[in-house]
Amino acid sequence: MHGGSIAVESEIGRGSRFTVSMPWQLSTDKQAELQSDTILQNGYSVPKVLQRQSKPLVLLAEDNEANIQMIFDYLTVTNHQVLVARNGIEAIKQAQEKQPDIILMDIQMPEMDGLEAIRQLRTDPRLASTPIIALTALAMPGDKERCLAAGATDYMSKPIGLKQLTEVIKAQCTSS
Ligand code: MN
Repeated sequence: MHGGSIAVESEIGRGSRFTVSMPWQLSTDKQAELQSDTILQNGYSVPKVLQRQSKPLVLLAEDNEANIQMIFDYLTVTNHQVLVARNGIEAIKQAQEKQPDIILMDIQMPEMDGLEAIRQLRTDPRLASTPIIALTALAMPGDKERCLAAGATDYMSKPIGLKQLTEVIKAQCTSS
């Protein structure tokens, strides 16, 4: 049923050898988790396995303070840990250091925009399969395609529905 095999070799007076083979493969998510088994939290190194069992670690890359405050507060009270980056360069730095479970990426940001940040994140093998949700201010034709082409997993246009946002995070963090 599992696609494995069982074999036996036996010799009277000497002994027997039973071999059980089971196909087994690490998911890419597990590989990523193993490559970075701890994260820094409030200056402490916390095993990521423990981390995962409790609260999803969300990296919010957004330059608008009102949006940051609103999303940060909402996600915090709904049992998430939230890291904030205010431009694309900061987002890449934080993502590489903290290995978040999911990244929310505003597209229009200073220094480096969200599209460029997503492209660069996807070149890092540790972040190649991290869910990235692109957030855009205006639902312009072609926006979604541009975000997905850059490597975003999904796309939401502003104003962001907070309940919808937590549902997307939940779906992405449990499906992988
Ligand atoms: Mn912005």
